[in-house]
Amino acid sequence: MAGHLLNRQGKSCVLVVCMGAILAGCQSSQVAPRAESIRISNDIFVQPIAEGVWVHTTYYNLPEYGRCPANGLVVVDGQEALLIDLPWTDEQTAALFDWIARSQGAAVKTVVPTHFHQDCMGGLAEAHRRKATSYALDKTIEIARQQHLPVPQIPYHYRTMVRGGGTVALATYYGAGHTTDNVVAWLPKQGILFGGCLIKSLDAQSLGNTKDGDLAAYPTTLRKVQVAYRHAKIVVPGHGDWGSPELIEHTLKLCFPKDSNP
Ligand SMILES: [Zn+2]
Ligand SMILES: [Zn+2]
Repeated sequence: MAGHLLNRQGKSCVLVVCMGAILAGCQSSQVAPRAESIRISNDIFVQPIAEGVWVHTTYYNLPEYGRCPANGLVVVDGQEALLIDLPWTDEQTAALFDWIARSQGAAVKTVVPTHFHQDCMGGLAEAHRRKATSYALDKTIEIARQQHLPVPQIPYHYRTMVRGGGTVALATYYGAGHTTDNVVAWLPKQGILFGGCLIKSLDAQSLGNTKDGDLAAYPTTLRKVQVAYRHAKIVVPGHGDWGSPELIEHTLKLCFPKDSNP
């Protein structure tokens, strides 16, 4: 029965996420006015959110759920770029690398997948072919090996600091939630937190797919993230629209649904 409930929640969440992405363009923002989204292809978009920082959003058809968007970050400093999460596929990853080279004159040197799912590291093999170095939590590497996925190259246990040019990003593991290996990435100079799939957008009405996660640990993990990044200027979720640290509070509330059968 629990399995059935999780499936139902997963399905409704993904649908909400997809609807949210469609509606996002019409909603007025409480944060700063948004820059225009740049279309790289039918399924790849980038939107600037700070100097040298873009959210990349790529779409993929999941057999059970339909067309779903997923977010990551592009950080460019000089001739070097850093990616937090990769697109779903090798092809999308190639197109994103090409856009960064063409429009920014920068090469992606470093990629940091925030957990093992396809919306974070589906394009890892292509990133390696293009000579980017990948960093991942030791647990992510272990799961990738077990599941015969492309394996990230450099492990870390709790936290790692990576650079794109002179710009620093910190990836930190605060505990299990969406998955047992999910980390968040922090850009200290810009005050941007990439929460990944651990953090839900404000229009998400459930925690979504937690079959690889830990519902008991989820709120504890979120509270640690909340304390660490209460002053973040922008919080970017794995799917849907970004905003303030309110997204963390919203996700916490989703851990304690009042009534799953209203
Ligand atoms: Zn995931
Ligand atoms: Zn996800």
